Amino acid sequence: MPDRYYSAEPIQGTTATLAGNEAHHLLHVMRAKPGLKLVVFDGQGGEYEAEVAKCQRSTVELSLGPKNAIERELPFDLTLAVALPKGDRQRWLVEKSVELGVTRLVPLRTARSVVGSEQASSKLERYVIEASKQCGRNCLMQLAAPQDFAELLSQQKSPLRILAHPGGSQLSELRPNSTENRCLAIGPEGGFTEEEVAQANTAGWQTVGLGSRILRLETAAIALTAALLFR
Ligand code: SAM
Repeated sequence: MPDRYYSAEPIQGTTATLAGNEAHHLLHVMRAKPGLKLVVFDGQGGEYEAEVAKCQRSTVELSLGPKNAIERELPFDLTLAVALPKGDRQRWLVEKSVELGVTRLVPLRTARSVVGSEQASSKLERYVIEASKQCGRNCLMQLAAPQDFAELLSQQKSPLRILAHPGGSQLSELRPNSTENRCLAIGPEGGFTEEEVAQANTAGWQTVGLGSRILRLETAAIALTAALLFR
């Protein structure tokens, strides 16, 4: 399968120009020459078979074949609201969320969130692009602006809204229908406060437990996402 590249510019017509990281990788890692075949996508759906037409100092021109309307999205909208961990754990969380098909990641601010754990959005965007190239997604996972917990509760309208909290109901009690949109909320290292759990319940969220062990927040986020994909 040819390597996949991301065009930051929306693709129109029969040519595209790659710049930045993508061109750097082609020019200096792949040592690309005219004629090299690849796949290019612009994150807005679909992908193109393409061929390197011209290599310049910092850009690569592609000539494009027809657009293939291939999508690898979930049959429902899945929002993951999570109090972001720090450093590499954040990268892991973003990468696995993309691989599992999460539609939208919302960095969540809660009473016990660690101040300063949010990385620059450009870094998170880069993680999304790299993971999408690897797993074959042609629509980029959306990165929402950070949201306060109260705002999430008042704005979130998915029919299925689930808060992960140790001691909550068993996952087997959930009966989502196969196309129902869903929103999951995962707390920070210190957990949700009892007040936050009560507010969520009042707002119609279901509280779910993930077994008898306390998971790191990124493990809980990915375990719950995976469990809900296959229910
Ligand atoms: N001492 C904290 C507590 O009791 O909530 C532990 C927080 S845990 C490290 C971080 C987040 O991951 C939690 O707020 C929850 O959303 C999720 N989580 C971790 N283990 C869980 C479990 N066994 N069941 C449900 N959620 C869990």
